[in-house]
Amino acid sequence: MSRDRADVVIVGGGIMGLSIAHQIARRDARRIVLLEKALNVGEGSTGASCAILRQRYTHPEAITMARDGLRAHRNWAKYTGIAQPRARFHHTGVLWMMGETPAAIERSRATMAGLGIGVEVLDAAEMRRRFPALSACNRPFDLTGATEHECADHPSFLFETESGFFDPVSAAQDLLEAVRAEGVEVRLRTKVTGIRTAGGRIAGVDLADGTGIDTPVVVNTAGPWAPQVARMAGFDYKTHGWTIRPIRAQVIYREWPRDAVPGPLPVVADSSGGIYFRPEAGGQQILMGSIREEDEQEVVADPDVFNGNIDAAFRDVKIHALHHRIPALPYRGQVTGVAGMYDMNIEDVHAVIGPTSLEGFIVANGFSGHGFKESPAVGSMVARHLTGAAPDEWDTEAPMEFFSIERSPIVLHEKAVLA
Ligand SMILES: Cc1cc2nc3c(=O)[nH]c(=O)nc-3n(C[C@H](O)[C@H](O)[C@H](O)COP(=O)(O)OP(=O)(O)OC[C@H]3O[C@@H](n4cnc5c(N)ncnc54)[C@H](O)[C@@H]3O)c2cc1C
Repeated sequence: MSRDRADVVIVGGGIMGLSIAHQIARRDARRIVLLEKALNVGEGSTGASCAILRQRYTHPEAITMARDGLRAHRNWAKYTGIAQPRARFHHTGVLWMMGETPAAIERSRATMAGLGIGVEVLDAAEMRRRFPALSACNRPFDLTGATEHECADHPSFLFETESGFFDPVSAAQDLLEAVRAEGVEVRLRTKVTGIRTAGGRIAGVDLADGTGIDTPVVVNTAGPWAPQVARMAGFDYKTHGWTIRPIRAQVIYREWPRDAVPGPLPVVADSSGGIYFRPEAGGQQILMGSIREEDEQEVVADPDVFNGNIDAAFRDVKIHALHHRIPALPYRGQVTGVAGMYDMNIEDVHAVIGPTSLEGFIVANGFSGHGFKESPAVGSMVARHLTGAAPDEWDTEAPMEFFSIERSPIVLHEKAVLA
């Protein structure tokens, strides 16, 4: 069977593979082939993503990566080179209702402001003035609703003024158009079935139709399938200290009755209910997920076959939490939902990015529920590593070494999606 040649082969056409392809192709004219097994791009984690673009993280390196990703998302037409992109940035701000002390909020504010991020501290009255639908209570309550709860205002909240959310599927389509215009060859319905090595380095990939591509560089952007793809190259994350696993992640879509619940609504992270939520579908729905570590435990044995529906118990608890945060929300209205997969890095819920001990094998995996916002920054890190090109306006200032596969696990208070 015939064998083609490429300088770089990218395995996986989710937001990460597309971003990396875009960032390499805008730097130089090397031959890049991106392979996606599904009918279209963005059908993995990316398609289920809530695409929230918040910038608060525990570590400055992660904050920087989110900040620099936001710059690309806020300037999407310029970043992609597409005059009329399908995706757009929804500027809602992100409100952190985490029950923190004023001192803890001030520490976060100072760190983020020091990195150039727009951030304010709102007291309860100011929060209510901006978002009249939201309760200012942060007292823990019985999530089953069995025990009576008395609300009390929490004194203050952190608010990211420039953040918001994006359209993930449209973003993938925009990047597909962009990379094709830049000369990247994108092959859909093309499954990689093997990775060849020779002399301890990457030599090429084999495809399901019996053909292959010789290449010195393979980039693994297979999301929840990343461990499978790595194994094809004889590469095991475990021997480098990492457990990368597909984890089922549920998202609820709740009708937003605008007559009863006045807008605007920001993106909200709410510790008392263990939820995050944001507007969806042009303000017709509220989209909601979990911020609890206990909801990120269901390992998916085979990412090609998993339960894409929501569980009734999950739905009921989270809807109860939403009623606590939005007291005027009526007990009517349609509730639906989907489940997607996080590609979870069990050790420290941050990605592993960059070169590996197998020469020519590059990884960008383990994004653990926050890869969408980081994707432009990740693209720039990998592209700079491969091309050596000087940083430009779309590059991140975050060091790739912080996310290196050779690092020790990052120290965190809680190994959940908000990390
Ligand atoms: C429910 C949910 C909510 C989320 N919310 C947010 C959020 O609010 N903000 C945020 O920043 N992030 C969020 N994320 C995380 C973010 O969406 C992911 O980190 C990101 O989409 C990962 O992109 P990816 O390209 O690495 O993986 P994917 O999108 O999964 O892409 C991998 C691709 O590889 C392809 N592939 C696999 N194996 C092969 C093979 N052998 N040959 C060829 N192709 C192959 C797959 O078909 C797939 O299309 C969320 C994720 C989920 C699931």
